[in-house]
Amino acid sequence: MSEQHTFQAETQQLLNILIHSLYTEKEIFLRELISNASDALNRLQFEMLTNDAVQDAQAELEIRIEVDEDANTLTISDSGIGMNREEIVAGLGTIAKSGARAFIEAMQEKPESAADIIGQFGVGFYSAFMVAKQVDVVSRSYRPEDEAVKWSATGGVSYTLEAAEKETRGTSVVLHLKDDEKEFAREFRLKDIIRRHSDYVAFPIRVGDDDEPTNKQQAIWRRSPSEVEDEEYDSFYKMLTMDFAGAGHHIHMRADVPMQFYALLYLPGSAEQNMFSPRNEPGLKLYARKVLIEEYNRELLPEYLSFVQGVVDSEDLPLSVSRESIQATRVMASLKKTVTRRVLNELKRMAKNDRDKYLKFFREFGAFLKQGLVIEHDDRGDLEPLLFFQTTHDDDPSQYYSLDEVVERLSENQEDIYYIIADDYGSGARSPHLDVFRQRGIEVLYFTHPVDAMLPMGLTEFKGHKLVSVDSAELDLDEVGQVEAEAEAPDAPLASDSFAVLQARVKARLGERVSDVRASKTLVGSPARLVSEDESGSRYMYRINRLLDKDYELPVKALELNPRHPLMHNLSGLISDGGDPSLIDAVVEQVFETALLQDGIHPDPSSMAARLTLLMQAATGSASADLAFAEVRTVISEPAVDDVPQIDLSDIEIEDDESSTPL
Ligand code: ADP
Repeated sequence: MSEQHTFQAETQQLLNILIHSLYTEKEIFLRELISNASDALNRLQFEMLTNDAVQDAQAELEIRIEVDEDANTLTISDSGIGMNREEIVAGLGTIAKSGARAFIEAMQEKPESAADIIGQFGVGFYSAFMVAKQVDVVSRSYRPEDEAVKWSATGGVSYTLEAAEKETRGTSVVLHLKDDEKEFAREFRLKDIIRRHSDYVAFPIRVGDDDEPTNKQQAIWRRSPSEVEDEEYDSFYKMLTMDFAGAGHHIHMRADVPMQFYALLYLPGSAEQNMFSPRNEPGLKLYARKVLIEEYNRELLPEYLSFVQGVVDSEDLPLSVSRESIQATRVMASLKKTVTRRVLNELKRMAKNDRDKYLKFFREFGAFLKQGLVIEHDDRGDLEPLLFFQTTHDDDPSQYYSLDEVVERLSENQEDIYYIIADDYGSGARSPHLDVFRQRGIEVLYFTHPVDAMLPMGLTEFKGHKLVSVDSAELDLDEVGQVEAEAEAPDAPLASDSFAVLQARVKARLGERVSDVRASKTLVGSPARLVSEDESGSRYMYRINRLLDKDYELPVKALELNPRHPLMHNLSGLISDGGDPSLIDAVVEQVFETALLQDGIHPDPSSMAARLTLLMQAATGSASADLAFAEVRTVISEPAVDDVPQIDLSDIEIEDDESSTPL
């Protein structure tokens, strides 16, 4: 008695696409079915580590391919874990895996590119319908008490289920080939496809009556690196990750002492998640003596290297333990240490020997390394040489320099390394904070990546040189570097009594929004800047919080005024001449808000427009400026940054691995 079941709507859609596809490389269906068989064998193997009471315990773990040219059928059988009735309904009636779902979504967005998408995609079992008009699946689960079941479909909206006779454990997939797909009922053609797409499958694949497996079965990572072609590395990466843009770099390692293991690791070419990737969880594939123990193991590398893809295969991990207890073994701890060290060393080597390639990597994944520097104190020494920054060295934003290079160029008497936090290169380069550094020829690092605001928490010093922010209130550069011959004499500074009046006026106007108002020792061409009296490493966390749309409060900083600047001279004159108080207030407000803007922390730049218009009006001599300022005062005297006393750091969970997903 057979019963009829309706496919889930998405499965119907998928089948419809595959049946009508004009995709030319239909042969990939075999790779997909062999891959399912190999997964089923892996899972059985894992089960048998702890359970002997399986159906057919003695059966060899293999994949068999048989054809019947007259009937035009092709059968793929495995002695794997098998499926009972519920499992077959769940596995072959619905689409559980994100991969196929993402495929359908991609197809809905770009139906015209079906052929491209199929090729890039592990569409799994259903790809059989590209070549078959009917597919029968007969399966017997590894559980001795389960009964065999037969599933059958012709690609319509439903499939049938019935009881079946099958004594041997595992699954047979029978493809009734379409009339114009007879080539897939030819053994030589199938062998050719197997060698091309499934050579490394770990279980023997036997075609027809052959005793000799068609595939080499040798896992690529167990082969000697000198024997593996670049092309093989590349296609293994694509199979593993479905990232068809290809890897950026691979690391193939074999170790014998103190532990024996093999690893093949890849740095993806891009941090952008491939929209089709079914492998969308971080983690490495972990094998113990060729048995797949875990599909996504996250204990082999620190969190900050979670972008690394690949396989680790250990000869020393105990086979008779559960996944959970494996994590606790000493072998895992030392594997992690060795693998991590190797990845970091490889990156160091790349940075040294192939700078362009490294910088390409760094632009994609540098944020991860920076995060590691903040979180993994022990790895700092390894991570510091991997950091590269744009700097003021040659005002060329295409150049990136290492900390070592910056240290080699330290100026006369320079002890500290200076950095500027900015939203981007352009606003950093225009910042008033750089006045004095440019004047004295001192190099400054640009911290312009969003995560760079976190760096001061981890990167506090390098080779004995403290890292100091250019907006630090403590900054004293009198002895550092060399002032280049001054082309034009600067204006004389304001007399100290005039400056005191100006200072008091500005302080009175800005009130709690600044912690202090004082004369600057460093400004050259700019009228003012905001300096930070908070020297803690977390002083820029508000930038991260702002970025994450979390609550943040602007830090209250001290305002430094440049006593030599013409604007300060004018303002001072206006005050002593009893000029329009509303104009003076408007200028003070604008000086302050311009400084906020230049630091990239103005909370509402467009709010300045009304004031700027009135200032222009005053500058161009409008008689009505007076009145207008009086009117706009209520608006500008309530700036958006009114009540901003302290940074709230209470909900930063930077040490907490779970919450620290890279930006
Ligand atoms: P995927 O392999 O990506 O999960 P498929 O559509 O290829 O997607 O397969 C769906 C499910 O059917 C599998 O996850 C598995 O549980 C089951 N399945 C498919 N082929 C086999 C097989 N040969 N043996 C056991 N289970 C299988």
